[in-house]
Amino acid sequence: MSQHTPQRGLFESGPAWEEDDRHAGLVASVVLAGPLDRPLDYLVPEKLAGSVEPGRRVRVPLGRSNRPTVGYCVAVSTRDIPGSGLKAVLDVEDERPLLSATMLELTAWMSERWMCRHGEVLEAVLPAGVREAAGSRQQPHFVLAPRATTPQPRLTPAQQRVIAAATAPLTASELADRSGASRAVITRMVKRGLLIEAAAPAVEKQALPADERPQLSPDQAAALTPICDAMREGRHETVVLFGVTGSGKTEVYLQAVEETLRYGKQAIVLVPEISLTPQTCSRFRRRFGTVAVLHSHLTPAERHREWRKIAAGDVGVVVGARSAVFAPTPRLGLLVIDEEHESSFKQSTAPRYHARDVAEWRCRRESIPLVLGSATPALETFQKCLTSEWRMASLPNRVGGTHLPGVLTVDLRDGPPRRAGGLTPRLEAGIRWALNAGGQVILLLNRRGFATHVQCHACGHTVICPQCDLSLTLHQPGSRGICHGCGRVIRIRPRCSECGEPGLSMRGSGTQRLEDRVARSFPDARVARMDADTMRRRGSHEATLDAFRNGEIDILVGTQMIAKGLDFPSVMLVGVVYADAALHLPDFRAGERTCQLITQVAGRSGRGPKGGRVVVQTATPEHPAIRAAAVHDYEAFVRHELPIREALGYPPFGQVIRFVIRSRSETAAREWAEHLAGRLRRQIEMASDAGNRIRVLGPAPAPIERLRDAWRWHLQIQGPDGGILRNLVRRATEGLRVPDSVAWIVDVDPVEML
Ligand code: ADP
Ligand code: ZN
Repeated sequence: MSQHTPQRGLFESGPAWEEDDRHAGLVASVVLAGPLDRPLDYLVPEKLAGSVEPGRRVRVPLGRSNRPTVGYCVAVSTRDIPGSGLKAVLDVEDERPLLSATMLELTAWMSERWMCRHGEVLEAVLPAGVREAAGSRQQPHFVLAPRATTPQPRLTPAQQRVIAAATAPLTASELADRSGASRAVITRMVKRGLLIEAAAPAVEKQALPADERPQLSPDQAAALTPICDAMREGRHETVVLFGVTGSGKTEVYLQAVEETLRYGKQAIVLVPEISLTPQTCSRFRRRFGTVAVLHSHLTPAERHREWRKIAAGDVGVVVGARSAVFAPTPRLGLLVIDEEHESSFKQSTAPRYHARDVAEWRCRRESIPLVLGSATPALETFQKCLTSEWRMASLPNRVGGTHLPGVLTVDLRDGPPRRAGGLTPRLEAGIRWALNAGGQVILLLNRRGFATHVQCHACGHTVICPQCDLSLTLHQPGSRGICHGCGRVIRIRPRCSECGEPGLSMRGSGTQRLEDRVARSFPDARVARMDADTMRRRGSHEATLDAFRNGEIDILVGTQMIAKGLDFPSVMLVGVVYADAALHLPDFRAGERTCQLITQVAGRSGRGPKGGRVVVQTATPEHPAIRAAAVHDYEAFVRHELPIREALGYPPFGQVIRFVIRSRSETAAREWAEHLAGRLRRQIEMASDAGNRIRVLGPAPAPIERLRDAWRWHLQIQGPDGGILRNLVRRATEGLRVPDSVAWIVDVDPVEML
């Protein structure tokens, strides 16, 4: 596909006249977003010589029809132009580079590291709002007129929504977007004088005086010192804060950020999900004033605005989820990842990067510290500390000396079969104890819906999704069967579709049924549920968390969502309703995830003076993941798990590359998976000595064998060295022509194995 291959004459040796034909010229390498792997070379015409530069986008002719296409200029150099010539750049899209040289280099590295196309990475690094230059024409921003802040007669519901949404200076389209009202409504409100034009976007508040800044404990100070040392000495160092919830990690981040700002530099703080961590965000806001919070609910124009402020160096602190690791800070001085073990830091669509690795690359490149914090560090992280590549700082105690709550494990195999809803008498007693003492309760059940499957009494038939082969989860009201694979909704009939008998039974409780059950057992308690079903609307997380904080909710039922961000002193009981929910998934991280989740949620109990308890219901109390979590000893789990990973060559002792092959045809999926596995195995044989520690697992049907009408097969290649693995995969897949009926993905360092 390279367009600069010189068209040689008849004489390969190159007679003198051919040399004369060549001349030097300015050449731009351009990466396109399409399926091309390599950059294409284009001549830079003289009139554009001053404006074509790396990091800006250019318009270039593509293909035989010379279709104008926008691509990213990644390099410009003076080179020999082949005799046959080069196509020329048509135009320049951006007034200034969207990406710095370092960020461009990062994207090239990512493309190599996660085996994805460079164009794909560039699109992921630059938010759509930036690429489209959304809102860059100065549009007027509106605020409420003073008279609109007092109750107004005769407002339509749409106008009321606009008034509720106008909490900051916003453009008309942003207002429409946030309120769901039409542009016409807003135009009328401007005419009526309810909305007035604001002079400029919100002026950033200045930081409050740092008087709330507490004196660090000796453990905290010992954690902060290596961070500040690295900063002062201008060198890279990764510091892992290993501390239970409430041990003061966030305070260490805050003071490290303060130090960064003192050097006139910028800090990026990554959190797993903004809407679940409002407390963390507001603490940063309170302490620093100028904080850019990159929320997933920002409009493209808002995102573009934040991006430009960060790039201009006007923002000292950036807080955001995974993609904030790409914030274009010109003077980065510190990067922090809170809850670094969370799998949301790995992107599940292409490019399948992990923010932790990207963060380390940036910090190494900028010679600055990286801080990773967690009560349950990923095994990859733990191992790097054990080998002293990274430095671990432990915060073993809670601030203020409150003790970790006692954990009671309830063996579900004992006693009478469980009643629907999943509460054992022990857990019920715990809830009653907490409520009587005026405390609050958190109940974790990591399964949504009412019943996880619906089965016929007579023939045992289970209702499944016709396009995914997954059992349908029953959701109430209305007896809807919802496929958690594809989201399809199917009405469940009272009779079995196989044998026609009436009497379907609902098996396996989800959060909905638990809520129902809890409400019936504790009729005086105020119960709320927090899961993907109840949290669809924007702002619903914050609303529920606020209500819980204000004591308007006694019992909060939810999925793993409630394991984060809930640091409230009146929580006296945490109940893990079914600890085994994710323990037996076909994933080598199942134990690690389970131990992390239980440890995290258990840490939410007993943060106040009245203390607290945890009840864990499990059918496998002897499992090391559950045993360790029950005594708040995550490290015990790590010590147990690491040798197993090592024996099997799994991360952190080896790397895994996973392939998922999808097709409407079961045969095509299987045959293609077998073909791919064959090619990989041949490459391994040819790799001589390096090959003997590399293995291919599979192919096999993926654990979710059918999804959205496609059959899924998967295989893994695994070995001690990621670079060698990637080269093997490249050689095995070079020039591979994929049949149209088959789609496949490559996932380097997968965290999702279903
Ligand atoms: P973590 O991030 O580990 O959950 P935090 O930093 O949120 O812990 O600390 C828990 C609580 O203790 C917070 O309310 C915080 O303000 C307070 N805190 C943290 N460090 C100190 C300290 N050195 N002295 C007094 N209070 C502190
Ligand atoms: Zn489905």
